[in-house]
Amino acid sequence: MTAFEKPNEATIASMTRGSDKFTVAQPPQFSDKKEQQQYEKQRLAAAFRIFAMKGFDEGLAGHITLRDCIDPDTFWVNPLAIHFAHIKASDLVRVSHQGEIVEGHHPINNAAFAIHSRIHMARPDVNAVAHAHTVYGRAFSALGQRLQPISQDACMFYNNHALFAEFTGVVSATEEGDLIAGALENNMAVILQNHGLLTTGKTVDAAAANFVLMDSCCQSQLLAQSAGELTLVPDAIAQQTQRINGSDLVTWGNFQPMYMQVLAQDDSFLD
Ligand SMILES: [Zn+2]
Repeated sequence: MTAFEKPNEATIASMTRGSDKFTVAQPPQFSDKKEQQQYEKQRLAAAFRIFAMKGFDEGLAGHITLRDCIDPDTFWVNPLAIHFAHIKASDLVRVSHQGEIVEGHHPINNAAFAIHSRIHMARPDVNAVAHAHTVYGRAFSALGQRLQPISQDACMFYNNHALFAEFTGVVSATEEGDLIAGALENNMAVILQNHGLLTTGKTVDAAAANFVLMDSCCQSQLLAQSAGELTLVPDAIAQQTQRINGSDLVTWGNFQPMYMQVLAQDDSFLD
């Protein structure tokens, strides 16, 4: 499991003002693994509430997974057929990379297992994976293109996402999960053509926030492309922006305001 890359003080100082006087939030460190596990399950449950808030819920589709911090060959996933807006930490199901449910009281989506287990296995640096069928994600996925660096936010995905162009029906076998993991390579995200988006992160916070941002970048590019010709951020600037916006601190940080909002609205996901 790859830990969050702690930024040095100079990096934080370059991105904020007042960090010499006030603390800039960073992921908590745990000495007790059980405490860490409960905390991370609550973050995963919160990510589903955020997906519901953003309208990323549709029928039985969509799953976010989190590698277990005690047994890293297992991961937590949402139960089948419970609306994202109602998921609690105690509803989550833990499944092994072989597909055995080892903790929890609900069935799970088979595609969630087939795709996410193979990514968790192929990418030890990834601790969380998010996937959903969203309006803008699937519209953009039908173009068979990658996101272009058309804005500061879109630069986050510059040379950092892949296209999986082989839609062969609903994913049911781990062989297809292997193909998706192969297309993803070492990128942060992959566009599944004619299907939707998939993002990863070292933390569930980052994977979920990356997904929210990627979906809105799809929306922006669809709007811009339908209005006229795209003006792209030059290569060197796009790369530099990607390094900053794709850093562990920023990708984790993007989740925090959304977390605060769901916490203020309804904290039942903590249960
Ligand atoms: Zn799907």
